[in-house]
Amino acid sequence: MKISNRLQKLRQGFDEKEIDAILISQPANRYYLSGFDGSAGYLLITPQHTILATDFRYLEQVKAQAPDYELFQITGNIEDWLPRLVAELNLGRLGFETEYVTFAQYRRLTDILNKVPSRLRLVPVDGLVESLRAVKEPEEIELITKAVEISDSAFDYIEGRIHGDMTEKEVAWEIEKFMREKGSQAIPFDIIVASGHNSALPHAKPSQHPIGSGEPVVIDIGARYEGYSSDLSRTICPGSPDATFSKIYDIVLGAQLAAMAMVKEGMSGGQVDHLARTVIEQTGYGKAFGHGLGHGVGLAPHELPRLSPGSSDQLADGMVFTIEPGIYLPGWGGVRIEDVVVMEGGKIRVISKARKA
Ligand code: ZN
Repeated sequence: MKISNRLQKLRQGFDEKEIDAILISQPANRYYLSGFDGSAGYLLITPQHTILATDFRYLEQVKAQAPDYELFQITGNIEDWLPRLVAELNLGRLGFETEYVTFAQYRRLTDILNKVPSRLRLVPVDGLVESLRAVKEPEEIELITKAVEISDSAFDYIEGRIHGDMTEKEVAWEIEKFMREKGSQAIPFDIIVASGHNSALPHAKPSQHPIGSGEPVVIDIGARYEGYSSDLSRTICPGSPDATFSKIYDIVLGAQLAAMAMVKEGMSGGQVDHLARTVIEQTGYGKAFGHGLGHGVGLAPHELPRLSPGSSDQLADGMVFTIEPGIYLPGWGGVRIEDVVVMEGGKIRVISKARKA
């Protein structure tokens, strides 16, 4: 991990956001910028300082994982220690991540800051670290590929043993056990196994519903390897598929392959979404594709870039993202096909290898 490169890029973004320093509290951002994977702590990054503030439980871990950081031991709530720390550094405009500082923390902090003479101003900043994370380093792509291999092998495994006496929950548990045994850390999101009518719900929860013969089964799974996620969806039909299944499956696969063939560096997420959506709309099922085409994958299973209608996120070399069109028909079921791809040399390379018809 090239922490110093990442910090350098982060600091280059300070001017545009009009900040002198930034306080990082989002866990994946904290890990990305420091290598510290403990569950509590803050980074304070100024042009001259990289400070990791955490409590007694993590002191030794920080020394081992983030040796270049200045360690600042904290006790109590953020409002108990942050004003003292920023006063020592004489900071002016301090960026903070609005989604990871609670309103209660913000209010207590501003109350304290208003009581003492200080030039400190809190500046809401969102997406600064997330947009750095969207472009992966080669080492990160290797770790994502390992996670993809684990979920690919889990799909191959379950496809060979799924049968009509199993419930959705049993299938989900078999997949989870398999991935953990193959080296996955705690899985990054709840497994989806949705059969029959349930598969018309894009984010169905596995139920006691037994897998029926001739019914579509949407399986959406992810593994996690050294912090990095994968995301894979396949739709299968144990037994003999009805005519609707074959027709819908072919449309969804056609939309996915069309987008994969045409996506290029520099396109916006909205343009790529449109490539697949047009294929589905032309068959009359446009309203049945009710979610975005894809999303970035990395330390979080869902991150930047967004591939959805109206997204202006620009696709660049090094970005890793999913392409996952779907069609959902209430009363029948659904089909979703999802692969992880990486942008390389202006085009995409498909990382996922799990079989699709
Ligand atoms: Zn996904």
